Amino acid sequence: MPTRLLVEAGHDITVFYANSNIAPAAEYEHRLRELQRYAEMQGFEVLEGVYNPAEWEEKVAPIGEALKQYSPAFGEAFATRHAGTEGSSSSEGSSPSPATVAELLDDDRRKERCRACYRMRLEEAAAFAKDGGFDALTTTLAVSPYQFTEVIHEELERASAQAGIAAHFQDFRPYYDEATRISRELEMYRQNYCGCRFSIREGEATRAFVKQQRKKKKARERAAIQAEQAELAQHRAEKQAYAEAQAKKRAILKSLRQKQ
Ligand code: SF4
Repeated sequence: MPTRLLVEAGHDITVFYANSNIAPAAEYEHRLRELQRYAEMQGFEVLEGVYNPAEWEEKVAPIGEALKQYSPAFGEAFATRHAGTEGSSSSEGSSPSPATVAELLDDDRRKERCRACYRMRLEEAAAFAKDGGFDALTTTLAVSPYQFTEVIHEELERASAQAGIAAHFQDFRPYYDEATRISRELEMYRQNYCGCRFSIREGEATRAFVKQQRKKKKARERAAIQAEQAELAQHRAEKQAYAEAQAKKRAILKSLRQKQ
């Protein structure tokens, strides 16, 4: 979707695939092949960066490793840290029972890991764009509502300024649903995690959490319907009992009148 919008706006685009964050390597290859297939249909060029997961492990992974003990999404490490704190908030402010996906993934801390990840990839892209004589740099990261868009914007500006190239930030999120629909129509591969090894676990935990929340919501709705039906039944029974008592009274009065 971002590529189509940029072409429609009159830009001559080239996509630079800079994704050393993606694990495992087979997933990296699979996403690249799928992008190339789409680029062929749309008529733009794709250039591949250097796939260097070791650099990502060095620059970004340590932040992810530290995060594990805070994010409820990483069950065991989180449980060890919060042993005995069930039902109360820890001194670090993490809640053992997340109420939202943001709490489950500890978005406040995750943001720093993702910032380091954006930084590494945008710096690579900006240096490449500068060397290649391109006019400006933008990023398709800004189409996903699951990313930290403000951080992406900041890092795009930072990397571009550092490389000496213009930054062209555009918030593509309003087009996310349309992009999803088109990718389904084209039967494209749709990944269910962002890319790094941490996000594989986070994706699984998020899906399980959302499923559980839906189940709880349905159970609450069922209980509310049952309570309403019980109340209605009680109301009917009371009405019936009242009608019967009235009928009995009328019958007694009638028989008294007949005796007079
Ligand atoms: S979740 Fe996505 S953006 Fe964040 S560190 Fe992992 S791959 Fe990078």
